[in-house]
Amino acid sequence: MCPECGSADVEWFTASGRATLYSYVINHRPARGFEGDGPYAIAVVQLAEGPRMMTNIVGIPNTPEDLILDMELQVTFEQRGDVSVPLFGPAGAAR
Ligand SMILES: [Zn+2]
Repeated sequence: MCPECGSADVEWFTASGRATLYSYVINHRPARGFEGDGPYAIAVVQLAEGPRMMTNIVGIPNTPEDLILDMELQVTFEQRGDVSVPLFGPAGAAR
């Protein structure tokens, strides 16, 4: 819904996949079944088109030294069972 006025009058659109790193926390207590994945960042990225979404950052170490706010990111999709999960890595990096 619209973060400004709460309106539910929204629509689907095809996004470019470009985003910037808006915020993150580094989770040191992974969920059950994902113990081998931690610590990892739970990130909020801002799409080039405006909306923000929660995701994970891939392709770089998930450390404060490597996770630079406002860094340019590009979406990549990871297949997990029947679901294709949108994750983000550094823009311009080989994928
Ligand atoms: Zn609105």
